[in-house]
Amino acid sequence: MSVTFTAEIDPTAVRSFRLSCEDGTDIGLYSGYSNAYSEAAAHGLVCLHSLCQQYGADIDEITDVPSMNVTNANAYPILAALGYTVDLEEPELIGDADASDMLARIDIALALAPVDPGTDTLEYQDGDTDRPAAIVTEYGRPAGYTQTKLRELRTIAVYCISGSRKVVWG
Ligand SMILES: [Zn+2]
Repeated sequence: MSVTFTAEIDPTAVRSFRLSCEDGTDIGLYSGYSNAYSEAAAHGLVCLHSLCQQYGADIDEITDVPSMNVTNANAYPILAALGYTVDLEEPELIGDADASDMLARIDIALALAPVDPGTDTLEYQDGDTDRPAAIVTEYGRPAGYTQTKLRELRTIAVYCISGSRKVVWG
């Protein structure tokens, strides 16, 4: 399981989409989903590729919103370094924070929190002794990992402040 930190969705933003033919040819950029969708359908009427005829052109949203993905195990020390309480009984790590508040927490954590010593990679056999199952590998993290991720998260917080958006994770 993993956690993605990013900016909350801005419902007023005009979304942009890139259309491409199933043969890989770039068709162009379109503003707004309904415009992109009708162009994709129109392409399906004139294209010779069977997938385009069936489903229309490929539609990919273009986004410049920064995001950071970490495993749940690596999200805990990041959130803890920022002083956010984490319910260890709750497997879903979901939350949001005011971006200015988070930026202040990040700067304090980078200045004061001890450097992440990292963790070792663990390998063990799952299952019980009379019915051994697969070898399980729990990857560790390198020393300083949390600080590296806090600097990435700082970029997201600054981005969110400029757009008056919250930082969300989940
Ligand atoms: Zn096509």
